Amino acid sequence: AHASGTAIHTLFSEEERAAMEANMESKAFQADVSRVMGLIINSLYSNKEIFLRELISNASDALSKVRVLSLTEPEILGDTPNLEIRIKADPEANTLTISDTGIGMTKADLMDKLGSIASSGTKQFADALAQDDSDLIGQFGVGFYASYLVADTVTVISKNNDDDQHVWVSDASSTYSVTKDVRGNTLGRGTEIVLELKEDALEFLDEDGLRRLTKKYSEFIDYPIYLWAAHE
Ligand code: ADP
Ligand code: MG
Repeated sequence: AHASGTAIHTLFSEEERAAMEANMESKAFQADVSRVMGLIINSLYSNKEIFLRELISNASDALSKVRVLSLTEPEILGDTPNLEIRIKADPEANTLTISDTGIGMTKADLMDKLGSIASSGTKQFADALAQDDSDLIGQFGVGFYASYLVADTVTVISKNNDDDQHVWVSDASSTYSVTKDVRGNTLGRGTEIVLELKEDALEFLDEDGLRRLTKKYSEFIDYPIYLWAAHE
C-alpha cells in the first residue's frame, strides 16, 4: 500500500496499479498550494460548480496552445488532429472525467504546474476570497485546485509530445504523486482529469444537470465539448 494514502484510481488494473505504485514519486506540495486549497474549499463550498468552469477553461487553454503551434508546425497534431473536450460521468465509479486533446503535460509540467503556484499573491488571494469572489481563482492562476471542491481524489493523466504519458494523483493532503503510465500512451496527446466525487457532490453525475452546467460554462469556448453520461 502507498504510504500517503493516495491510491491510483480504479481505472487501472490491479497489476498496473501495483507496478505504478512501486515506482511512484511522492512530493510535498509547495506550502502555498496547501494553503490555497484550504482557502478554496472553505470559501467556495457554496459555489462548487465552478470547478467545471475552471477545468473547461484549462482544457481550452491547452487546446489553443496546440492550435497556435500547429500553424507553424502542423506535424505537432500527429495522430490526434481533433481539438476537442470530452466530459464523462460514470455513476458506477462515482467519477467525472474531463479530457482534452490539448498540449498535455510532461512529467516536469505535472510537478511544476500542479504542485506549485506561479503567482505570488497568496495573501491577496486570501483577502479577495474573503469577499466571496469566485472569479478570482481563475485570475490568480489556481483554478485547477477548484477540483477539490467536488473531489476527494484527483487523478491527472497527461501526454505531451515531448515525454511519455504520466499520471499525477493527489487527495489534497500535503502530497501528490507522479509516475509513468505503465499502459503507455493511451491518450495520443492531451490530458484526462478523473475526479472521484465526494459524497456531497454526486449531483454532478446527473445528466441533465451536467448538460446545463456544461452549456453555462462553454459559452466562450471555441472547441467542441462532447458530453457522455451513462444512463442509470
Ligand atoms: P491557470 O490556468 O490560471 O494557469 P490553473 O490552476 O487552472 O491556473 O492551472 C495551472 C497550470 O496547470 C496551467 O497553467 C497549465 O500549465 C497546467 N494545466 C492545467 N490543466 C491543464 C490541461 N488540461 N492541459 C494542460 N495543462 C494544464
Ligand atoms: Mg486555469
